[in-house]
Parts: sequence; C-alpha cells; structure tokens
Amino acid sequence: MAHSVIDTPTLGEADNRYGPTAARLVSTEPIRLGTVTVDCHAHIFVPEAAKYIAPHYDPAARPFVKYSSPQTRAINLKQDADRTLALLDPRDRVRVLDAQGIDIQIVSPAPPQCYYDVPKEHGRTVSRIVNEGVATFVATHPERFAGLGTIPLQDPAAAVSELEFVVGTLGFRGVEILTNVNGTELSSAEFDPVWAKASEIGAVVMLHPLGFTEARRFEDYYFTNVIGNPLDTTVALHHLIFGGVLERHPGLKILAVHGGGFLPAYSGRIDHAWGARADARGSLPEPPSSYLAKMYFDTTVFEEQEELKKTRADSLHSLGGRLVKGQTL
Ligand SMILES: [Zn+2]
Repeated sequence: MAHSVIDTPTLGEADNRYGPTAARLVSTEPIRLGTVTVDCHAHIFVPEAAKYIAPHYDPAARPFVKYSSPQTRAINLKQDADRTLALLDPRDRVRVLDAQGIDIQIVSPAPPQCYYDVPKEHGRTVSRIVNEGVATFVATHPERFAGLGTIPLQDPAAAVSELEFVVGTLGFRGVEILTNVNGTELSSAEFDPVWAKASEIGAVVMLHPLGFTEARRFEDYYFTNVIGNPLDTTVALHHLIFGGVLERHPGLKILAVHGGGFLPAYSGRIDHAWGARADARGSLPEPPSSYLAKMYFDTTVFEEQEELKKTRADSLHSLGGRLVKGQTL
C-alpha cells in the first residue's frame, strides 16, 4: 500500500477506508482559485517525543481509549500503523498538497501528543521535543508548511514560556491545545495567563478534542470520536464564552476544529438562556453568540460544500463568524 492518504481507494472494503466515503469525497482534481489555499487542520507525529514519554503515562487511561470497544481499539492500532508514514514524511505530504491543490498547510501535533497527563517536569520536556519535531518538519518545505506547537497546560507558567518560545523562536503561528486539561475547563482561572500571552503576541490557538471526559455511553460504534470529539469541543466553547475568556481577552484568535462541534449549529439556545435566566447570564455583558462570532472554524465536518453552505456557513455568516478550510488525517 502506498502510504499517501490519497492513494488508498482500493481499501474500500477494508476495516479502515482512507479514500472516499459516503460523506468524504476526496477529489484528485485540483480546484485552483485565484487566491492562496491554506489548509489549517492537519497533523504530524513526532516519534522522538512518543519514545521519551512512553514510561511516564498510561495511554489506556485516556478517555479516548478508555471509552471504546475492543473493535475500535483494534482498528485504531491498524490505523496508527497505516498512517505512520503519512504522518512522518514531509515529501509525501507535499505530494498530497500538490494533488489536492493546497498551497500551504499549517501542521500541528497529532492530538495524543498534547501530553497534559504526564508529570509537570516531563510535560515541559516532551512539549519541547514535539515542538522541535514540528519545526524540523516545517523546515523541510518552509514555503509550503507553517507550524502550530503544543504547550504543557498541566503547568500554566511553563505553558506561557513554551508559547513564547514556539512563536518567538520557532516562528510558529500559534499552538494547538486540547479542549480540556485532564478534565479541567479551559476557562479556569489558572489558564488566564496563557490566554493573556496568546492575545498579547497574536498567537492562534487551535482547539482540538481528544475524546470526551465522561463518555461511558460512547463506547460502541466509535462514538468516543463520532460524538465525543465534537461534544468536547462544544463544551469547551460554551465554557470559554460563558466563563468570560473572550470578554477578558477580545484579541484572542481561537480556531475551533471540526466546524466548532455542535455549537455553531445551535447557537440560538445559548442566547436564549443568557437572556432568560440570571444563572446562565452570570456577568457576561454581551449575548454569548457575539463571542462565538469572534472565533474561527474549519470546514472539517464531512459535508458536501453545498450542504456546508446551507447549514454552518450561513448560520455563522449571519453571526459574522468566519470559516477557514481544514482537513485532517
Ligand atoms: Zn485533527
């Protein structure tokens, strides 16, 4: 099997299908617009970091793995093996970009490489190894790649330092963070210095889920990903808005992946609750959807473009929100 994700249509009946699916039409016909096409959502893997951290945490304890069926875990293992080269090889990645008509790709660590569930001293070290791996990947084709790093959020002070390092020294555009930190909400006061620094230096913060924290009912049918991932993004966005993070830091550039989960399709409910009840309103001075409209959302929702326009884009545009192109591995 060729390792490029676009070369696997013959796997149509396999356990993992990397070619077109009912909702994912992977065209090999480039669509060239008169503008630069940037793919904002694509991952790489840094094996050196995985090797370093292996003795220091238990991947099976992570909700994404814990709340899954034996079949899901078996397919995940096979998928990891299938995708290894696609996640490692920059030459292959450029070939994919050329075939898909993408000019620039912003690469970020595979979400399991946001190691928040390791002791602080190892969190700092492994984050640096991941970030240097991203920098090495980007440096192979700096005209085609830009980087997002990871920061050790289990240690907010170290996270601020690493954020400054990846933007100031490595030249990254920002960081990818998970949608909760070992179950703690991103709106928790301990993370405010991180939001303040991101706002101060203009760093993009990409929100990416890695399963749902309380997913006992999501074990079958890969629901840990199908429902759990967009649901965790949904919950994170609600907390960022209602917890006042965007009110306190209006300059933040937040990019929520997978179309922002379920919230952009159902934002009327938050405004209704805010308007109707003191417990929902809290101290938030503006309607919640006005903060949603300040964020960015990718288009990785596996809907055809026409459907996308009808649902999310129109809904977001009516709020003044913005969609940016994304794909994922
Ligand atoms: Zn992703």
